[in-house]
Amino acid sequence: VRRVDEFDFDAPIERAVAHTRDWLASLRERPVTPARTAQELVARFDTPLPETGLPGGEVVDALAERVGPGLVGMPGGRFFGLVIGGTHPAALAADWLVSAWDQNALLRGLTPGVATAEQEAGRWLLDLLGLPAESTVGFATGATMANFTGLAAARSAVLARAGWDLEADGLSGAPRVRVVVGRERHESVDLALRYLGLGRPLVVDADEQGRIDPGALHRELAGAQAPTIVCLQAGNLHSGAFDPFGEAIAAARRHGAWVHVDGAFGLWAAASPALEHLTAAVAGADSWATDAHKTLNVPYDCGIAIVADPGAARTAMGMRSSYLMPDPAGDPHEGVPELSRRARGVPVWAALRSLGRSGVADLVERLAARAAELAEGIRRIDGAEVLNDVVWSQASVSFGSDDRTREVTRRLLDSGEAWMSGSRWRDRAVLRVSVSNWSTDDSDIRRTLAALADAARVSS
Ligand SMILES: *Cc1c(COP(=O)(O)O)cnc(C)c1O
Repeated sequence: VRRVDEFDFDAPIERAVAHTRDWLASLRERPVTPARTAQELVARFDTPLPETGLPGGEVVDALAERVGPGLVGMPGGRFFGLVIGGTHPAALAADWLVSAWDQNALLRGLTPGVATAEQEAGRWLLDLLGLPAESTVGFATGATMANFTGLAAARSAVLARAGWDLEADGLSGAPRVRVVVGRERHESVDLALRYLGLGRPLVVDADEQGRIDPGALHRELAGAQAPTIVCLQAGNLHSGAFDPFGEAIAAARRHGAWVHVDGAFGLWAAASPALEHLTAAVAGADSWATDAHKTLNVPYDCGIAIVADPGAARTAMGMRSSYLMPDPAGDPHEGVPELSRRARGVPVWAALRSLGRSGVADLVERLAARAAELAEGIRRIDGAEVLNDVVWSQASVSFGSDDRTREVTRRLLDSGEAWMSGSRWRDRAVLRVSVSNWSTDDSDIRRTLAALADAARVSS
């Protein structure tokens, strides 16, 4: 016998809205760091699975009560760790609708509503980022899987050009695919190559900002003739730097290579007239990976895989099956590794519609301006040195010795005022500053700089 409560959506939804309001309102003042560690939280969860159920509204309360103390102020304006966006109001609400609508977004004909919204979001993205209008746009979980998608299309295409049918014959016995990357590519590229059975890439040198050296790339490519993929980067994790796309793509083209660009957070510079010089010539590549959950500030998870040749994307990711009712115009699953998935492109549509073209330009310019302000303020702190040219949204800072840099990082995190992660760059311990949140404002910058100055003062 079903209890009446099982059909009641109202109570759980109302409780979720209440908890959401509390959480969002707390972001401004709450410590950015969580109140409890994972070990401490285990005690709250450590019970056998109860024999009987609980009404939905009470489940939501119980969950919020248990998880709350372990939440980090990640969507707030003083979170500068990793590369983490917050969420725009319209994108958050759209994401809720995606869950409520509960559409499996793999087929156009099956779920025309969300499929069309995603298609429109894809069209807007290509326009905004200045990429070829006929490209396939796939909504994957993140840039890792978007890199995987682009590199999978690349693998099939370069092998096909060498006379090898990867889809039919697999990798065993295939000509070796040469993959060339810059020294400072993001390691998710290596991970994607591992998933693809392509092994370790050939690494060419980069300059002091981490940009691939196009001369070194040319020399590397001039060696043996082989099916070749060149992977470039828009937005270096430590410096924010962009590879010199014009020269690097020209070098790759001379040797018949496929060019893939990891632009997880950097590709968005193309959306700003003031910053698009950073991505100049990037449209000449064959595939691009980016994230919407970083610079665009939609909720997790949302990566975007773009492949200029729709046939190449379909060859690598497509699947034909009679029960799937394929649409002659192509289906969303042909641009991503997954079949079943949520319509994660819908919040992208909402964010873009909410911001408009000028709003996206303003967003990316603001992130870069905030990063420059932070770097400027940090330079005034005794003993602090900003190691990179702050051209985009990232900065890497040393406070002298590696030990002191680590100590300042620890003290900053202990303060709960702002969140920045430690890392290593150019053989030094650094404090990494990533400005990726749409809501970071003047007071967030002031508080963060004051907390950093404090952390640096007490440790020398
Ligand atoms: C974040 C990031 C990735 C990985 O993206 P996910 O969304 O975490 O999968 C890849 N490349 C770069 C440059 C990144 O910043």
